[in-house]
Amino acid sequence: MVKNVEIARVFANIAKILSIKEENKFKIRAYEQVAATIENLPMEVETIYRAGKLKEIPGVGEAIAKKIGELIETGKLEYYENLKQTIPSGVLELLNVPEVGPRKAKLFYEKLGIDSITKLEEAALRHQLQNLPGMGKKAEENILRGIELYKKREERKLLGVALPIAEEIVDQLKSLREVNQISIAGSLRRRKETIGDIDILITSKKPEIVMNKFINLPQVKEVLAEGLTKSAILTHQDIQADLRVVAPDSFGAALQYFTGSKAHNIRLREMAVKEGLKINEYGVFRVSDEQKIAGKEEQEIYNILGLPMIMPELREDRGEFEAALNHQLPQLVNLEDLKGDFHVHTRDSDGFNTMEEILGAAREKGYQYIAITDHSQSLHIAGGLDEQRVLEQIRRIDEINQNISDFQVLKGIEVDIKSDGTLDLSNNILQKLDLVIAAIHSGFKQERTQLMERLTKAMRNPFVNIIAHPTGRVIGYREAYDIDMQEIIRLAAQTNTALEINASPERMDLNDIYVKSAKEQGVLLAIGSDAHQIHALDYMTYGIAIARRGWLEKGNLLNTLSLDDLKARLKKKLKN
Ligand SMILES: [Zn+2]
Ligand SMILES: [Zn+2]
Repeated sequence: MVKNVEIARVFANIAKILSIKEENKFKIRAYEQVAATIENLPMEVETIYRAGKLKEIPGVGEAIAKKIGELIETGKLEYYENLKQTIPSGVLELLNVPEVGPRKAKLFYEKLGIDSITKLEEAALRHQLQNLPGMGKKAEENILRGIELYKKREERKLLGVALPIAEEIVDQLKSLREVNQISIAGSLRRRKETIGDIDILITSKKPEIVMNKFINLPQVKEVLAEGLTKSAILTHQDIQADLRVVAPDSFGAALQYFTGSKAHNIRLREMAVKEGLKINEYGVFRVSDEQKIAGKEEQEIYNILGLPMIMPELREDRGEFEAALNHQLPQLVNLEDLKGDFHVHTRDSDGFNTMEEILGAAREKGYQYIAITDHSQSLHIAGGLDEQRVLEQIRRIDEINQNISDFQVLKGIEVDIKSDGTLDLSNNILQKLDLVIAAIHSGFKQERTQLMERLTKAMRNPFVNIIAHPTGRVIGYREAYDIDMQEIIRLAAQTNTALEINASPERMDLNDIYVKSAKEQGVLLAIGSDAHQIHALDYMTYGIAIARRGWLEKGNLLNTLSLDDLKARLKKKLKN
């Protein structure tokens, strides 16, 4: 699937190159506009393309539609590839940095000879950019931030991309008789939202057989290193995976060591030193006589220091040691605790599947309920529902619910918080629904006060239950819009509004840190897959990852309530 952001970036780059070449302004503007439209579309362009409706996208005519088709079908655009050849390649590389436009790229190249992102970063850190014409301190800072975003996109892979690949690799290795123990380690085991590489640990009596299988897996694009204790490969998605063989009596210690984080492990080693112990990847040793006293099981490493086992997701040195010492570690929520999903799109707006298909899949997951939350009318391109169509959907859902007893479809909407802060549907309509999630889909670059006012108004609305993807970020492509998240959390507590953990891999919004502070202020969280097709209902795995990294217990999540409790809870908002 070609992502909207990727298509948008191609068109934005075309506009940039044309503008470096000082071509026709209207042509440039047309590409810029279409790039902006596509980037902000709440549905996949590929979906629109498959439905043969590209020309319904504002600004998309015959020529651009053809280009989009070529991109989707071949992953490339010949026109763009040729255009790229016409300017120095270094200048074009600079354009990959958000905040660097054609004029700046040309300026940096001509004045300072900057033709790579590395050189650009060096120049910015040495404050050589701020004195160039049209620049300044703030502009220089923005460029550094843009470089960070770019790096994140290039160097770190989304959890939602890396985890399935890692699990596939583990499954294949597990099928070998020669593999005894096996586990994922590293930031992937801690379920960070993005990861650097995949770390896998095993024990085996015949490592040569395991290593041979590993470097010949179908996932391998390139073998980076090959050895009896460690091998490394690059997958077709350009993710590095390392496989290490460790001794059985060190497996627990190695797992603890390679899971990290660095900050967590430093604290652990400091605690050990105070007890006259030394911890490393081979085990726990008594300093006095160098005797090894633990290492086989990971849990022992903690227990020996008088601590309960600390779950991998908590290992960030964000208070887990203090909590462990006080016997106050959270009982982390599990995927199995979820009784439903609060954010799903159907074919009625921009989803792939019918309501019936979705509810079938949701029941198979063992859910008790699922909320259908299609877009509202102002998102024309996403087929947003107007009042008439909402009423129609309500009738259909009532009919469906009449015929099932062990499950319920919740009547919901993802109502747009418009640029002026009003909601896209009247309270008269909203009150007929079981669940309203409200979200910002436009005006991302507004001033903080304006954005805060929009969200505040939405939270004060008696019918809005959840704020969806509260910060609006898209990992590696779009930073969060300028809001005061702590203030939003306070308001959520005050107005009894839940905040969403949008589980879609490129959103992961709220993130773990905000989730933890929301919990601390008594705000309920609600996980939504934001599925636009059935397979995406599985994104709940990533939502749970954030929830656990945010220290959530069962009681902090709206999704763990039984249907009756949920309905009672949703009504509570009204009493505020
Ligand atoms: Zn949305
Ligand atoms: Zn949505």
